[in-house]
Amino acid sequence: MSLLSVQNLCVNYDSIRAVKGISFTVEAGETVCLIGANGAGKTTTLKTLSGLLPATSGEIVFDGRKLHGMPAYQIAALKLALVPEGRGIFTRMSVLENLMMGAYNRSDRAAVQREIDDIYTLLPRLAERRQQQAGLLSGGEQQMLALARAMLSKPKLLMLDEPSMGLAPIMVQTIYRIIQTIAQQGITILLIEQNVRLALSISQRGYVMEHGDITLSGAAQTLANDPAVQAAYLGEL
Ligand code: ATP
Repeated sequence: MSLLSVQNLCVNYDSIRAVKGISFTVEAGETVCLIGANGAGKTTTLKTLSGLLPATSGEIVFDGRKLHGMPAYQIAALKLALVPEGRGIFTRMSVLENLMMGAYNRSDRAAVQREIDDIYTLLPRLAERRQQQAGLLSGGEQQMLALARAMLSKPKLLMLDEPSMGLAPIMVQTIYRIIQTIAQQGITILLIEQNVRLALSISQRGYVMEHGDITLSGAAQTLANDPAVQAAYLGEL
């Protein structure tokens, strides 16, 4: 059984049909990307999976449970974590307080402290700024913090909405190295990106979304070599 299975999902905003009956799966341990142009329906899909938007129809099964109609806090408790576009960190709280929020539903305090120490070793920038207000961090540091906070919730599925958005190229590389480190730890990842080349480079499989539909899917390498994908998303090679 797939960790996540989405069947015929439709999501409307009043009369706008943003997601038009898409089906896809994510297996445990995979990194899968959902790629496509602005407005294709990617963010709407992730928000619906998180319970932040209601599905109009269709079925979502995560870890053996039907999510349809479940409120966002219950879905989060099933260990499905979303790092939203714009990171969603608490800007007036310190870096450490933000990290602690990621672990609010855990009772294993000693393990949490060990994991925060590991995060500080992996991401020394966060260690240096642990007492600083999170809103004062750079965009890349805020993305690091959002990833670290999500990790502390020990997700079974980590959904990332455009982690490279608005970052300088060098910081994009850093963030993607961190995402690969997370994947190597065995965390399953569903990644949304407009930077198609980057997303395919770290994914095993991908789905291409256009105007609310999935139009193409397959192994990341196959998609990267597909002439239609190259023409639409990868530019001249
Ligand atoms: P982006 O990368 O820009 O977020 P996307 O692929 O994630 O693009 P969505 O944000 O899911 O696309 O948008 C899908 C469609 O739904 C678009 O046509 C968009 O205009 C529309 N849409 C998104 N949010 C709303 C909303 N709150 N109300 C009405 N329409 C919306």
